[in-house]
Amino acid sequence: MIGSGILKGMAVTARNFVGSYFEKERLITVQYPEERNPLPENYRNFPILIYDTDDPHAGLRCVACKICEKECPPQCIYIVKSEDKKPDYMGKPQFYPKVFDIDISVCMSCQICVEVCPFEAIKMDKEFELSKRERFDHLLLRREQLSKSNDYYHKIHPVEAAAVDKNLSDAAAAAEAKKKAAAEAAAKAAAAKAATATPSAQGKASTGS
Ligand code: SF4
Ligand code: SF4
Repeated sequence: MIGSGILKGMAVTARNFVGSYFEKERLITVQYPEERNPLPENYRNFPILIYDTDDPHAGLRCVACKICEKECPPQCIYIVKSEDKKPDYMGKPQFYPKVFDIDISVCMSCQICVEVCPFEAIKMDKEFELSKRERFDHLLLRREQLSKSNDYYHKIHPVEAAAVDKNLSDAAAAAEAKKKAAAEAAAKAAAAKAATATPSAQGKASTGS
């Protein structure tokens, strides 16, 4: 029937309008900014850089590999790699970003940078109150503004952050086990070499006497 869609739509509107006087969940308007709806776990806005411990420099996970810079579709990431190295979360010396800028006036929140990062170093923030009076400098976020602690990451994405922590600790444990196995193998090889070298050395010693 022509117009049935309009009638159905009006019925939905009427049901919600009348229902809003009786059921709280139908009251979808909140008195922002005094009231705020909680954001869902998967809500995302712009990227942030995660650091471990309390030190935004020493704990920064980013190793300036520049993969995210290359993959970012609108090319809004700018990285300058350091000349020196600092230990990463596994104690391995790594480069770090001397400069890490993101132009959030260009960023389209696609999360590709997060997907391609091999170091769990870049994640999506939930902060959305970012309006500024200036178009250029004020929307260009520097490394210092982008750096957020792992505790902050846990606060905004608890489920995702817990999974990331587990991945990182599993990787650290696997690396530690590999290192231990290699050290044991090297010690065994050295012992075997010493055992085979001993009789000939003894033989030489006895011939000489
Ligand atoms: S979210 Fe997308 S557009 Fe924004 S910095 Fe990451 S890759 Fe670039
Ligand atoms: S955020 Fe990740 S992908 Fe981007 S430079 Fe740092 S380590 Fe590499």
